[in-house]
Order: sequence, then C-alpha cells, then structure tokens
Amino acid sequence: QRRDPNQTEFQEAAFAVLDSLEPVLEANPQYVSSNLLARLVEPERVIQFRVPWESDDGKFNVNRGFRVQFNSAIGPYKGGLRLHPTVNLSIVKFLGFEQILKNSLTGLPIGGAKGGSDFDPKGKSDAEVMRFCQSFMTELQRHIGPDLDIPAGDIGVGGREIGYLFGAYKRLRGYQNGVLTGKGLTFGGSLARTEATGFGLIYYTDALIKAQDDVLAGKTIKVSGAGNVAIYAIQKAHELGAKVVTVSDSNGYIYDPKGIDYTIVRRIKEVERGRIKEYADQVPSAEYHDGSVWDLDINYDVALPCATQNEINEEQAELIAKDGAKYICEGANMPSNAAAIVVYKKNDILYGPGKAANAGGVAVSALEMSQNSERLSWTFEKVDNYLKEIMAGIFAQSETAVKKYNLDKDYQAGANIAGFEKVAEAMLAQGLI
Ligand code: NDP
Repeated sequence: QRRDPNQTEFQEAAFAVLDSLEPVLEANPQYVSSNLLARLVEPERVIQFRVPWESDDGKFNVNRGFRVQFNSAIGPYKGGLRLHPTVNLSIVKFLGFEQILKNSLTGLPIGGAKGGSDFDPKGKSDAEVMRFCQSFMTELQRHIGPDLDIPAGDIGVGGREIGYLFGAYKRLRGYQNGVLTGKGLTFGGSLARTEATGFGLIYYTDALIKAQDDVLAGKTIKVSGAGNVAIYAIQKAHELGAKVVTVSDSNGYIYDPKGIDYTIVRRIKEVERGRIKEYADQVPSAEYHDGSVWDLDINYDVALPCATQNEINEEQAELIAKDGAKYICEGANMPSNAAAIVVYKKNDILYGPGKAANAGGVAVSALEMSQNSERLSWTFEKVDNYLKEIMAGIFAQSETAVKKYNLDKDYQAGANIAGFEKVAEAMLAQGLI
C-alpha cells in the first residue's frame, strides 16, 4: 500500500490472497522467516513501453504497453495480453498476481505474467489493429520467448490479434511457434484452445456442484459477458443439460427465458463484431435491457460472471442471494469485489474463484506449448479430456486444502492455499529469489 498507493485492483487481489493464507503461515513458520509473502507480491520484472501506431486517417497515435513478469518459480512466465482502454499497471499487476496461483493450480510448469495496452480495438479497422499489434510486438519481442515468457489472449485479444502479433514476432525473430499461444490452427494453435476457458469453467462448476451431492443438469444459469469465455461456457452448460438465460456486453444484456443460443452470440461477436443488442432483433423470445445483468431480478441457480473485474458489487451480490442462486463460479478474473464475496459467504452461496474456475484457458495454452515442442497436433478429444482432468484436479486440490485447514467450504481460500503452497516450496528451494 505504501509503495503503490494507487494500485487499488492489485491491492484488492493481493489482500484477498494474503488474508486466506493465515492458517498456512501458522503451520509453516519458514514462510514467515524467509519473508516469502513480501517477495511474492513484488513482480520479478515490470516492463512498460510506448506503442506508436498510425490510424487509417493518417493520424499518429500513441498507447502504453505493459508486460509484468511476476513469478517464474515453477516455470516460464505465462499469461495473457489485454487490449482495453482501462488497462493500467494496477490492472496488469492484479492479473499477473492472480496468474501465479492459477497457473500453479493447473499442475503444469508455468509461472505467472500478464500484459496488454490501453489501446481500444473496438471500432478499429483490421488494418489499424494490425499496425498496432506490429508496433506492440516491435518492443515486446525483446522480452519474450518459448522458454522465457509466452503471452496469450485476454479481453480484446482473440485469434485475429494473436495472428498479427505472431506474424510481427516472426519477422523480427524467426519462426518459433511456441512463443505465443492461442494461435490459429494453421500455424501451431491447439484444437479446443478457443473453447477451453468456457468449457473449463463448466467442468469446474460441475465438480463443485457434484461435491454437494447436487447436479448441474436442470439448473438455470445467468452468464455475463458475450466474449470468448461466455460463448463457450454457454455451449458446454447446455450440452450438460443446464439452461443459460442471459448474456451481456458493456452496454446491456439479453434475457431469454427459453435459453440463449450460443451460435447466434458467436456469430454476432466473433464474425460480425457487433453488439449483444442485435441478439434480440433475431430471437423473438429475447428481451434487451440497458445496464448490468446482475440487476435483473429472476430466480436462478448458478451465476457465471464472464465479463470483467469488479462487475459485481455488494448490492448485486445481495440480489444474487435473494434470487436464490446457490453457486457462483467466475469465468472472468476478479469479477466480484471484496464486499460481494462477503455477501456470498454470509448467504452460503458456494463460491468458485476465477483463479480456479477459469484456469482452463491457460491450461490448454500450456498444452499448446507441449504440442509445439513435440511438433505434433493433438485431437480435439485428447485436449478436451486433459482439460476435464485438469479442472477436476483443480477442484480436488482446493477441496483438499479446505479439509486440511477446516475451511468450511471456503473454496476461495482452498484455491489460494493450494496454488500458493507449490509456488512457496519452489521459491524456498531456489534460495533467495
Ligand atoms: P472478450 O474480449 O472476448 O469478451 C469480454 C466480454 O466482457 C465482452 O462481452 C465485453 O463487452 C464484456 N466486458 C468487457 N469489459 C466490460 C466492462 N467494463 N463492463 C461490462 N462488460 C465488459 O474477453 P474474454 O471472454 O476472453 O475475457 C472475459 C474475462 O475472462 C476477463 O476477465 C478475462 O481476463 C477472463 N479470462 C479469459 C480467458 C480466456 O482464455 N479468454 C482465460 C481466463 C480468464 P464489450 O464488447 O462491450 O466490451
């Protein structure tokens, strides 16, 4: 707080983790004597750079680029790039910090990082996005590599952007397909990477619900967001017999009591790059409303926030409880603010935090790295089976920590502890790093 008084998002993420580590510190005095937590919250490296680019009207623009290489104790830096006007150092640090524990939970050898820029891809032409990505990579290429730091997508960075970034890297450094993940299938991408975070979210949710002797099939679900995570969460939820009745973007939301058709959302967002409002023009049973989906007052069972950080505040959490939701699993990173999480716990809503529930994306990214190293492409089924196993494993590790430390179904603390223990052991074993 003293060092970075304005980094509110980072502080929120760090304090949430540190608070839940108390029982681990009591049981492991070596973590305290080695000042491990102070080291953990300090990134190994922060890179900030200028990104100049030319728009179609001939104007010269400048944005700010970031890469925070947070922790490489268990593997090379790994984490997405976000392109959104709200991106600043606090956001990138919060995301990078979460990524350390998330990557640890996957059981795969990847460290934590995050990056991005305050560039807004919305409303830009393909040529503008390409020029931006080329300029961004002109600097970033100095800091990344297949065994050093492997960026991927996040908000505003999908297949198109990864393609431009990869092309730019290749011109500067030669063909190394393991340097980015989320690549197109024709140049080293993995089958099921596009679906991984959304599918993984549902596999995690399914495991959480099953552990309560309950079933996902037949449940009514609210989803927020209409991007990569939301679309494939809706697809998998329907495949497993649940019904998703909402979808949203930053302007408003759709409510369709008959169930959202993910193929229409996918076409609007991925192909036409349109707004979610257009869904209601195409589907008679759907209503469009301005505002947040969390303010819609309907009865449902499961909340899946898949848009962005701090999208659920205390009042909206109270509404989630009042509407009878029993489970909330986060597709987005830190969508619930600290006060909202208190409300979930007070109302016995079982809470699956983002770092556990949305780890499927980075897990399959790591599988993409494996395929690139092997010079092989695995089948969709093989990747999907790994993903299922990894998500079930993440829930199981969190549950083990819950039981070990008597945490009374606090799966947030369970995930923090399980992710932390592996990183802590690796850091201690490597000396004063
Ligand atoms: P996309 O860019 O594909 O979609 C983001 C969606 O969220 C859009 O519908 C967007 O609406 C909405 N959104 C963004 N900002 C806001 C805001 N301030 N208020 C309301 N809605 C907003 O991103 P992803 O689906 O990839 O990512 C969504 C979340 O999931 C993020 O928190 C991301 O960090 C997290 N995540 C993503 C992973 C991945 O593999 N993609 C992996 C793990 C986590 P609009 O178009 O109006 O901006």
